[in-house]
Amino acid sequence: MAILIAFFAGHWLSSVFCQTFFLHRYGAHRQFDLSKGWERFFHLLTYLTQGPSYLNPRAYAILHRMHHAFSDTERDPHSPMFHKNVFTMMWETKHRYDDFAYRRVEPEARFASGTPEWPMLDKLGQSWPARIAWGAAYTAVYVAFAPSAWWFLLLPAHYIMGPIHGAIVNWGGHKYGYRNFEMGDKSRNTLVFDFVTLGELFQNNHHEFAMSPRFAARWFEVDPTYPVILMLEKLGIITNLSPQRASLRARAADASPPPEPVAGS
Ligand SMILES: [Zn+2]
Ligand SMILES: [Zn+2]
Repeated sequence: MAILIAFFAGHWLSSVFCQTFFLHRYGAHRQFDLSKGWERFFHLLTYLTQGPSYLNPRAYAILHRMHHAFSDTERDPHSPMFHKNVFTMMWETKHRYDDFAYRRVEPEARFASGTPEWPMLDKLGQSWPARIAWGAAYTAVYVAFAPSAWWFLLLPAHYIMGPIHGAIVNWGGHKYGYRNFEMGDKSRNTLVFDFVTLGELFQNNHHEFAMSPRFAARWFEVDPTYPVILMLEKLGIITNLSPQRASLRARAADASPPPEPVAGS
């Protein structure tokens, strides 16, 4: 049983880490640079951790840049404002994603430039025989270690791990929680310690500071991916970390209640 809990948690966290660190903060926003070798390393890691629900970095970046440009308007590819429930939203998001992943639709040039691409791996990530082999491998782990058949109910989450994380962030992050920054969209910070999606649920902070690699903005907010980014920068794996993190601190202070007026001012 302990093995399966560790397997589920390990798959969940490694998969969402690759989404937030590689696909989102690096691929879509370029908040830092990676050498070609390290880019390939994290690209491969994303495939290995997401397996059958691997998200193509180019298609992810296009959809995500559109989400920022049109946040919570009718042109937003996944706004909860325009869908009855999370399932219809994700079903439509899947179609928009496939259009870009299979190159059936060309995006506006501004949404597609400079995204990580690895044609061989990206093709493997979209191959059905490979997806079925991944599914069989997850199933084999449960066949070997599940103490009862109830545990098999967790298997579908392994098969579609990437879209599950997307659904939690895209639906919850624009519907539930509090706001630090008032702006035109409906983005919210859903949790204050975001260990569920490793920082992705600070949507309100992130929409205000899209280039900040630190998704937490207030002193009590915890973005678990940011210390990892700092560590990778110390190790020289990450370079040119976006300087917007400095202004984030300044702006977060602005969002706190104003200090008492000083006499004479
Ligand atoms: Zn958002
Ligand atoms: Zn973003």
